[in-house]
Amino acid sequence: MNRKELEKIKEKALEDHIPIIMDETLEVIDELLEGKKLNRILEIGTAVGYSAICFSKYLEDDGMIDTIERDPDRVKEARKNIKKAEVEQQIQIYEGDAVEILPTLNQTYDLVFIDAAKGKYPFFLMQAKRMLKEKGIILADNILYKGYVLSDYNKHKQRTAVRNLREYIKETTEDPELDTKIVEVGDGLAISKKINSK
Ligand code: SAH
Ligand code: MG
Repeated sequence: MNRKELEKIKEKALEDHIPIIMDETLEVIDELLEGKKLNRILEIGTAVGYSAICFSKYLEDDGMIDTIERDPDRVKEARKNIKKAEVEQQIQIYEGDAVEILPTLNQTYDLVFIDAAKGKYPFFLMQAKRMLKEKGIILADNILYKGYVLSDYNKHKQRTAVRNLREYIKETTEDPELDTKIVEVGDGLAISKKINSK
């Protein structure tokens, strides 16, 4: 990976107000995945490719990231960025709505990173669980959504998003097959590890 290019991609994304993953969230993920080499990663919400490029360092040599983005302009920019960062062999972009694309995927993944429409998190969770390997990890960014999720806030125009994020937290924490931690870092990160329920 070309780190100098990655730095430029990050700066431009911030200038363009693209909601890329925050530094402190990346640090938590770094600690979590330290020393791990993953074969397959699924990302929901590519934007301009920043997080996917960051995650490429966790891949083993023949590892791959599948990432989904529905905005055609962002897909275009992501493809350019991924080339510049010299990781085009490791990242495959699916262009379209994740709600339609996810059910067509039949891979299994070591890591799923959910970072797209908040109102769809419960659906993304169901799909992530379907394709998660034993001991796999599901991460969900923006899970605390500016603090709305843990407050009694519900008059906001984004209340559907808030309701669905709360449902995501409830489902992951109550699921006997998942060990879930909600970390108050960045905009909130949910970490769910698949455990053996038996
Ligand atoms: N993961 C990126 C940031 C993603 S921002 C990073 O950290 O660098 C969220 C992205 O998800 C946006 O670009 C948006 O267009 C996309 N998105 C939202 N809902 C989607 C859906 N249903 N299907 C596919 N992409 C979606
Ligand atoms: Mg995010």
